[in-house]
Amino acid sequence: MSRVLVIGCGGVASVAINKICQVSEVFSDLCIASRTVSKCDKLADELKGKTSTNITTAKVDADNTDEVIALINEFKPDVVLNVALPYQDLTIMDACLACKVPYVDTANYECEDTDNPEWRKVYEERCKRLGFTAYFDYSWQWAYREKYKEAGITALLGTGFDPGVTSVFTAYAQKHYFDEIHTIDILDCNGGDHGYPFATNFNPEINLREVSAPGSYWEDGHWVEIPAMSIKREYNFEGVGMKDMYLLHHEEIEALAANIPHVKRIRFFMTFGQSYLTHMKCLENVGMLRTDPVEFNGQEIVPIQFLKALLPDPASLGPRTVGKTNIGCIFTGIKDGKEKNVYIYNVCDHQECYREVGSQAISYTTGVPAMIGTMLVAKGLWNKPGVFTTDEFDPDPYMDALNKYGLPWVVDENPVLVD
Ligand code: NDP
Repeated sequence: MSRVLVIGCGGVASVAINKICQVSEVFSDLCIASRTVSKCDKLADELKGKTSTNITTAKVDADNTDEVIALINEFKPDVVLNVALPYQDLTIMDACLACKVPYVDTANYECEDTDNPEWRKVYEERCKRLGFTAYFDYSWQWAYREKYKEAGITALLGTGFDPGVTSVFTAYAQKHYFDEIHTIDILDCNGGDHGYPFATNFNPEINLREVSAPGSYWEDGHWVEIPAMSIKREYNFEGVGMKDMYLLHHEEIEALAANIPHVKRIRFFMTFGQSYLTHMKCLENVGMLRTDPVEFNGQEIVPIQFLKALLPDPASLGPRTVGKTNIGCIFTGIKDGKEKNVYIYNVCDHQECYREVGSQAISYTTGVPAMIGTMLVAKGLWNKPGVFTTDEFDPDPYMDALNKYGLPWVVDENPVLVD
């Protein structure tokens, strides 16, 4: 019986919280804490009577470590799940460290103010050293490894779908199908249609920062960076059909490159329709994706934050999104001296997710693994002192839980490869 503190109450959090409440035998007590406490209260009211998990709510500004520490001391959780934004990763990690409580999240640290000179200096040095320019990377959180180890607590990073499940698929392929994995292609396909000309499926600011950035992949021990959306492939996805997909930089590449021996190439592709790309290019061209403040009518506004206020709330897309997602990894390598190819993937239906927890499949495919990772840490199954990504634990209990809690997976041993 565990006490879990969930920080954040947006699209992903609401699925994770629904799922936590389905597993009351593990999660006896839940505190939902976020910046806007009315959202936490609303969700808690919806869930009361449907679960035997005891639910409380709290207001917290997770940018403020002392506030998080005070909340942890008051609620006394066995584990903290951070499903706020990547901007809060370090403040929440600091609070968990101070209170010696395990930490779990779904996305690696990203600095909100990319003009901050202190952050910029480290960032520019990293761009030169590693060869990719994304604003997010693991170095900030990997810097906590020794501190977490000394404190005897676990930090589990990136337990969403991608990153998260994709890295568990890799560990599973490594354990059961390969002696050596040589290439990994991570394919993220959203075949859903929400009927709006333009909307993002998760937090617009985080999403647009990610997809408008240069792409990159790992090859022969180093990063290769390319202009945004400049490598395009077509793939016929089970449950969805033929889609265009584009090579992006993605955070799990960094962890897999460090942790999977023998790997020669790792790429990440995401599907986008032409309308999405045209809108994004236009918004970028007119400056609406800028992350630095501009003065308008005597007031400072950050264009991408203003754009977020105009776009549909991702949490509101659930009732109107139809179609399926298909996310997985194609591995090539060697088993018993012979070449082998394996594709492990999940197909998820937007409307089925909506019927179960009131959300579209993007929040669902992130929120379910967030619950699973938290559950494995709480049960002591994924528990070792230090800071780890999901490829660094035994994948079997996680894979079983995916089947049990709504994200069943398929292994195809004769997949079509991506050229
Ligand atoms: P939302 O914008 O829907 O929700 C974010 C929540 O965090 C909101 O409730 C927000 O509060 C709260 N929050 C923001 N700042 C603070 C703060 N300073 N203190 C306390 N609470 C705060 O985001 P999503 O649910 O779409 O995404 C959540 C996380 O999941 C992100 O880190 C995202 O990167 C990650 N993600 C991971 C994926 C994966 O596969 N690994 C895929 C998709 C998302 P308020 O209501 O006041 O705004």
